[in-house]
Amino acid sequence: MQDKTEKEDLKLSKIVSLCKRRGFVFPSSEIYGGIRGFYDFGPLGVEMKNNIKKLWWQEIVQKRDNIVGIDGSIITHPKVWTASGHIENFTDPLVDCLKCKRRFRADTLVDVSEQDQDESDENLIKKLEKLIKNKECPVCKGKLGKVRRFNLLVEANIGVLEDSKEKVYLRGEACQSIYLDYENVLNTSRQKIPFGIAQIGKAFRNEITPRYFLYRQREFEQWDVQFFVRPDEMSKWYEYWKTERMSWYQKIVTNPEDVRLRQHKTNELAHYAKKAYDIEYNTSFGGWLEWEGIHWRGDWDLSRHGKFSNHDFTYTDPQTEEKFIPWIVETSGGVDRTFLYLLLDAYTEEKTNGKERIILKLNPKIAPVKIAVFPLLANKPELINKAKEVYKLLKKKFNVVWDDRGNIGKRYLSQDEIGTPWCLTIDFDSLKDNTVTVRDRDSTKQTREKIEDLISLFSKILD
Ligand code: ATP
Repeated sequence: MQDKTEKEDLKLSKIVSLCKRRGFVFPSSEIYGGIRGFYDFGPLGVEMKNNIKKLWWQEIVQKRDNIVGIDGSIITHPKVWTASGHIENFTDPLVDCLKCKRRFRADTLVDVSEQDQDESDENLIKKLEKLIKNKECPVCKGKLGKVRRFNLLVEANIGVLEDSKEKVYLRGEACQSIYLDYENVLNTSRQKIPFGIAQIGKAFRNEITPRYFLYRQREFEQWDVQFFVRPDEMSKWYEYWKTERMSWYQKIVTNPEDVRLRQHKTNELAHYAKKAYDIEYNTSFGGWLEWEGIHWRGDWDLSRHGKFSNHDFTYTDPQTEEKFIPWIVETSGGVDRTFLYLLLDAYTEEKTNGKERIILKLNPKIAPVKIAVFPLLANKPELINKAKEVYKLLKKKFNVVWDDRGNIGKRYLSQDEIGTPWCLTIDFDSLKDNTVTVRDRDSTKQTREKIEDLISLFSKILD
């Protein structure tokens, strides 16, 4: 990863400030100085985030017969995290500066990328120790301490009485809920293997270096599919999901060349994965970075939960009577990371007819506001009435805003900056022939359309 800070990346800084200025994303608890790694979504942000999640849900769950959804709890039985391997393995190598006490991820201070690709975790720590010995703290040039493993699970305590409180964990990855519910889903949904369970939900990680805005947070949302298969069909389904997910991401961006698939090196593999590919996005701040992981989890999850809970997850094929523990292909991506990458993909500065404008060239299905309605003049009641009529008609179906401030040019600029695909102006001709001008965000071209045709015109693109 290139070593740019958030502020050094001009594009990211502009997006962060646009998000704050226009009500997409705010720093959490800002009046108290904020809290690192936590963000709130504002009025436009929540619309956009909901649109993104809706698009994923339609693609993954509603379009298919062999996937069903769940919404699991954030706190689960604490044993889940021992069984999942997270208590033991969900760690980052950390090093403290002995002088200024700052803490760093050891693997970001030294180059372990190429020659150490195939090292086991334990060997890697030893290597890091050796390499770190010759390094100094990048901030104060002080001496660095020992490399230590730091667990990323966020702890909480539940219970009423202080001394009988139980230590629990906020889920470090949302997918565990799917394994816990696997059998309940199997028994109630009439699904048979191969089938999948999908979920969108929050996850929490004590990230050492939350950074790059929504890219690495401590509280974030994930979307997961866990697809349960026969062991001998694993390869087929793994390839299937790689292709499906890659083509979906390429479809929702404006610049598909900024999306790629990359295979993990051995030392990058998570403890549960035998094989992994990442779908990556070419960011302005760190080059190619992960967007979604496609993981070959095999029988790791159901076997481990079977062992730790004393439960038999053996599946009997209804046709062949064959018995096996189902294997799993996982596709796991970040909702907030998608939000950020789509903003990076959409953010454009352009000179149109001699005027500078900022445009979010968002896919219309993802844009927070679909249509803005303007009366040409704010002081003509007949124009206002007609425009209100159009506004109310469209509002039944789409997220529409009203604007009668300033001149039309300024209203356009304001909508371009939040990605509104269409602006409608009601003028004096509208009173005579029931038509409006429809101005397209990206081309700025205007067409005249009949009011009665508007719903079907926009539905064709948005439905
Ligand atoms: P990374 O290597 O970036 O830390 P990861 O490999 O730990 O990610 P997974 O555990 O596979 O990530 O999680 C699935 C997805 O969840 C990631 O592809 C990413 O989109 C998202 N994600 C993971 N960690 C964070 C985080 N701290 N903040 C925001 N999104 C995250």
